[in-house]
Amino acid sequence: MKILVTVKRVVDFNVKIRVKADNSGIELANIKMSMNPFDEIAVEEAVRLKEKNIAKEIVVVTLGVAQCQETLRTALAMGADRAIHVQTDLELQPLAVAKALKAIIDKEKPDLVIMGKQAIDDDCNQTGQMLAALLGWPQGTFASKVEPETDKLQITREVDGGLETIELKLPAVVTTDLRLNEPRYASLPNIMKAKKKPIETLTPEQLGVNLTPRLKTIKVTEPPKRKGGIKVSDVAMLVDKLRNEAKVI
Ligand code: AMP
Repeated sequence: MKILVTVKRVVDFNVKIRVKADNSGIELANIKMSMNPFDEIAVEEAVRLKEKNIAKEIVVVTLGVAQCQETLRTALAMGADRAIHVQTDLELQPLAVAKALKAIIDKEKPDLVIMGKQAIDDDCNQTGQMLAALLGWPQGTFASKVEPETDKLQITREVDGGLETIELKLPAVVTTDLRLNEPRYASLPNIMKAKKKPIETLTPEQLGVNLTPRLKTIKVTEPPKRKGGIKVSDVAMLVDKLRNEAKVI
């Protein structure tokens, strides 16, 4: 089985986000960037399938600025075999990413595509679904378990009421949820080895796709500051405040 995994470079999940003074977006200067956590889970799952001799080759793909190569190197150090970088400085939105991925998939012909369920910067949760629709492939979203069979996959999905198990015919698109696995840290020898693994750089023009954004961000604002709490003296006062001030009962 050949697996294609998508990885996005995003603001590290530990960074406290600051909104720009002109409300046009968030501060990105001198901010630590890392692989989107759900994509780390996607890479880990692919590497585990390779370790079980189910996957033969893992190709990782990213779209974005030149520095995204660092994210690809991390995926290569975790165990991916080779990487593709679609280099662009444009702001990327899910439909554009899905179209570019489709162009790559038409050429690479993987049996399985594993993606994060959501990028923690835009929180869109759209790219995997859009890609599956463009390809006309089955999709298993929010996967918490992936069990491959000969030409199909059993996916356990995290849904509101509990867990749902579905069967997908390959080729298919799977998006990862948090509980699918715990990604490994790349070891130093593997980080060194990854430096020699190939990264192919492509332009959107070479793929024949137009990545121009279709949505415009009008304004980004901080959430309202939380007000300090108060202590109430008894239950009657609590009920009174809930009823007349908070108006929740
Ligand atoms: P989103 O729909 O933006 O929440 O992203 C869902 C998933 O799509 C991410 O977890 C990534 O696996 C993939 N993805 C989105 N944008 C990119 C990108 N620029 N490069 C590579 N993968 C991406």
